[in-house]
Amino acid sequence: MVVDIISPYTVAVAQFDEAAERLGLSQSMRNVLRAPKRELIVNFPVRLDNGDVQMFTGYRVQHNINRGPAKGGIRFSPEVSLDEVRALAMWMTWKCAVVDIPFGGAKGGVICDPHQMSRGELERMSRRYATEISILMGPNSDIPAPDMNTNPQVMAWMMDTYSMHQGYSVPAAITGKPLAIGGSEGRLDATARGVQVVTKAAMRHLGMSPESSSVVIQGFGNVGGITARLLHEMGCKVVGLSDISGGIYNPLGIDIPTAMRFSREHGSLRGMPGTEPVTNRELLELPCDILIPAALENQLTKDNADRVQARLVVEAANGPTTNEADRILNGNGVMIVPDILANAGGVTVSYFEWVQDLQHFFWSETEINQRLETIMSRSFNAVLEKATNQETNMRMGAYLLAVSRVAEATELRGIYP
Ligand code: NAD
Repeated sequence: MVVDIISPYTVAVAQFDEAAERLGLSQSMRNVLRAPKRELIVNFPVRLDNGDVQMFTGYRVQHNINRGPAKGGIRFSPEVSLDEVRALAMWMTWKCAVVDIPFGGAKGGVICDPHQMSRGELERMSRRYATEISILMGPNSDIPAPDMNTNPQVMAWMMDTYSMHQGYSVPAAITGKPLAIGGSEGRLDATARGVQVVTKAAMRHLGMSPESSSVVIQGFGNVGGITARLLHEMGCKVVGLSDISGGIYNPLGIDIPTAMRFSREHGSLRGMPGTEPVTNRELLELPCDILIPAALENQLTKDNADRVQARLVVEAANGPTTNEADRILNGNGVMIVPDILANAGGVTVSYFEWVQDLQHFFWSETEINQRLETIMSRSFNAVLEKATNQETNMRMGAYLLAVSRVAEATELRGIYP
């Protein structure tokens, strides 16, 4: 069987090219905005618990920093590649622009399997990676955050490492930290809360009510798990869930607090009583009204897009839909809330965390959630209006808004020297 290998960066550039064409950007501007500004590859040693030394490879890519310091998460996964990190960095540029927060785009990652590493090994690897990329990091230059397989503890180790180099604490150098060391209220839930806000807005637009809507979510981590909980609390019926071990299905609805407990106790959702097992592939084709990919890239492709039954797809993950799948879904009348809008809640509260750290003045959770809701609703409405006025879909609407903002900043700043 021939398996298509889809390069996330090719997907990202094709999306940009289409927006640039519609915006009538000059060839010079297109050349500037297509290319990542900086790409750092680091190979570094980590001592394992058995005394051996293993070399790891990591990346940090800054795509564009014309609207502010570089911002973007760190991913630990065996599948991390420069191509993937490049794509994710470009998407961060557009994401920060679409919600209009003053950051540029970046992303980082280390090729590793954190599930096979001890806590000590993970700490030593995180600290050494932070040291390696510290030539880029800083509260005014490049501010990492969590992504797949990284969490507040990893952010704490990285913040401490960066601070040790400086000789004093620099909490604003990284976001997604634990509360006790300058983290923000609401950060853990932020991406999912943003997904909830845009899902609600899209449902309103489509005339759907929570009580009569069924939901399938791929990925049960920080984003997928909390999104499931919030939509369940809103009254939606979550009928399908999955993690890396596979999916579970119950057309009558899955009790999310029970699923969370089960997943915590058993390490995965597999075998949860009262549900039937499905593969991650089957999961995406289950009968439902709303489909939320919240795991990884390239899940909806030309091979399965036609079989998606949902009428609303909310991209909580980055890059879950290939360009061909996007065309098929649009052709079938499916509304897609694109990743650069749908999952921007995380970077928005990261922005709040950075602002609070810089001011040494902290806000309440209520205040943070209200500010987040304001930004996400405003951005959803702006994208919908752009898409409607330009007679295009939500993804192109989001790109038109984002790319024009970054192009304007780039034009105003000019080219140095
Ligand atoms: P996470 O590590 O907390 O959870 C990832 C989930 O996906 C886990 O349940 C894992 O089992 C599952 N998964 C991994 N590989 C899979 C596979 N091959 N098939 C099915 N499921 C698989 O990560 P997260 O932070 O929830 O991130 C999920 C997605 O959301 C990523 O695309 C990430 O870039 C995006 N995102 C995260 C944030 C954030 O704040 N954490 C912000 C914006 C976007």
